[in-house]
Amino acid sequence: MLNLDFYRNLPKKECRECGSEIKEQYESYLYECEHCIGKYEQT
Ligand SMILES: [Zn+2]
Repeated sequence: MLNLDFYRNLPKKECRECGSEIKEQYESYLYECEHCIGKYEQT
């Protein structure tokens, strides 16, 4: 059996601001994509 199926079934994280898929490289506590986070930093 391949454990890969387990990981494929994990729900994708989506940016709560724009709905874009958050890349797995981001920390798990982040809820915005890089674009939206950048927006906040510039404000
Ligand atoms: Zn976003």
